Amino acid sequence: LQVELTMRAMNFNAGPAALPLSALERAAGELLDVDSTGMSIMEHSHRGKAYEAVHNQAIALVRELLGVPESYDVLLLQGGASQQFAVVPMNLLEAGRSADYVLTGAWSQKAYKEAKVLGKARVACSTEADKKFTRVPKQSELELDAEAAYVHVTSNNTIFGTQFHAFPDTGKVPLIADMSSDIMWKPIDVSKFGLIYAGAQKNLGPSGVTLVIIDKALTAGARKDIPTIFQYRTHADNNSLYNTPPTFGVYLLRNVLDALKQAGGLAAIERHNRDKAALLYSAIDARPDFFRCPVDTDSRSTMNVVFNLPSEALEAEFLAEASRRKMVGLKGHRSVGGVRASIYNACSKEWVQALVDLMTEFHKGA
Ligand SMILES: *Cc1c(COP(=O)(O)O)cnc(C)c1O
Repeated sequence: LQVELTMRAMNFNAGPAALPLSALERAAGELLDVDSTGMSIMEHSHRGKAYEAVHNQAIALVRELLGVPESYDVLLLQGGASQQFAVVPMNLLEAGRSADYVLTGAWSQKAYKEAKVLGKARVACSTEADKKFTRVPKQSELELDAEAAYVHVTSNNTIFGTQFHAFPDTGKVPLIADMSSDIMWKPIDVSKFGLIYAGAQKNLGPSGVTLVIIDKALTAGARKDIPTIFQYRTHADNNSLYNTPPTFGVYLLRNVLDALKQAGGLAAIERHNRDKAALLYSAIDARPDFFRCPVDTDSRSTMNVVFNLPSEALEAEFLAEASRRKMVGLKGHRSVGGVRASIYNACSKEWVQALVDLMTEFHKGA
């Protein structure tokens, strides 16, 4: 997943984000003619052989890389993670039951809001009040309802730069995770989850594809009194080909996952990601009078590294210098300000080193 420094920008965008160069080059090479068919993949029928092969490879690569058990369905859907905020409770929150939400940032708040539209939802914990979402909760802080239909968490909080490094134990209650911004950053045990969902545009590919991994028991027991298109079983029963899938997005997702596999899979990418995060957090911690990460040390994200400089004026100067050096996407989310470096799978260590060099020089010059 190493990307050349030369012509390409150093892309720290939060999402859509950098993609592995090899995945893009493959797409460029096949754009006008895929597999000697005289057509691009976008011009093929989603019921034809050429697309079907790509589609099935994408699903097989998700299964292989994450070690998804046979007892789970892998679905490629549309509508983004935001649509899943609604589709999860539509399917899994039965009348008369309640779902637990762990609130650790803006995305989990949005998920909670959608669940309340559809049924009963309660807050099992929120880290907003005490620390403005600068940490994720410990197990002991969760007030879980043993009868809940499910527990919903956001594994990585893209805006606030926090991440669960151990997932809550929810007993018999299915754990549902929005993993949009850290899916496949390292190996995980899928069997610990009832459902995992992720918009592709941070770690997996372009926007427009949403990955859902769901325990077949949940698919089977899901509500039937909702529109067909929103039922997980519709897509599970039809291998995610009930209606026209986002074919080019799935094709690129396949390219990205293939590149990830060639690069050694999730164990290798975890080392790569931990190296980058350590490099960047060390640079912040080495100058505590100048750079400050507002996040509790044990909640720090390996994907979105947020930090502040002593003033907004210095932050603006820092971002301007970064942009002169062809580093893009470093401005913090508009709701929190500061600097945010999104260092997803496709971000190279060279880019992070370039950012660290800038930090060192900027601190000296300030
Ligand atoms: C980006 C993001 C979303 C929103 O994804 P869409 O695909 O735009 O709906 C949701 N949750 C998390 C954690 C995200 O990072």
